[in-house]
Amino acid sequence: MDFANTGLHEWLTDQCKTMGISKPTEIQVNCIPHILNDEDCIGCAKTGSGKTAAFALPILQKLSEDPYGIFALVLTPTRELAFQISEQFSVLGKPIGVRVEVIMGGLDMMEQGLGLSVKPHIVISTPGRLADHLQSCDTFSLKKIKFLVLDEADRLLEDDYGEQLETIFQALPKKRQTLLFSATMTQTIKQLQDVALNKPFFWQQ
Ligand code: AMP
Repeated sequence: MDFANTGLHEWLTDQCKTMGISKPTEIQVNCIPHILNDEDCIGCAKTGSGKTAAFALPILQKLSEDPYGIFALVLTPTRELAFQISEQFSVLGKPIGVRVEVIMGGLDMMEQGLGLSVKPHIVISTPGRLADHLQSCDTFSLKKIKFLVLDEADRLLEDDYGEQLETIFQALPKKRQTLLFSATMTQTIKQLQDVALNKPFFWQQ
């Protein structure tokens, strides 16, 4: 299986090559066609499986077909992961001039507020800081996002982000595509699946 069979455009597979990526990993082969087909998706896989590109590539393809304000929100549990995800979106999305904003604790709140007000395409955030922004400023809206990605969802729930996640979910549209990635499928994740996803395609490593 190569990238051509996943339904990705050539400009994206060319970008993969600039990152040294020539053959899709298992999670990419299995999940990308379903994400391109507008389905919700759950991928059960660890860091290192290529899960970031598994969601970044189809999101960038959809973005290139329908450029739009804030297009995708990616929630991730740590600052390191937020930067790694941001790096992959920026490199893979370079040909379409993708604008990526990282929102997380430890960075200047005002500067981030300004970054959000100019409508980046992709917002990558830890839940705490995004909830702070939603509660304190009205210069941006997440009401029209097309994609929500819950990255490392088991850790998102473990880290006691419950209240912040609730604040964020209230700010999101009901009609959206939701992609959830997790190393394990716990009971709490199944509960999250019931409230946040719609008949997801399920893939386990
Ligand atoms: P992740 O699972 O998203 O944390 O990805 C781990 C690493 O794998 C990242 O450095 C990616 O650049 C790399 N990667 C992603 N997809 C592929 C692929 N198809 N082939 C080789 N490396 C990849």
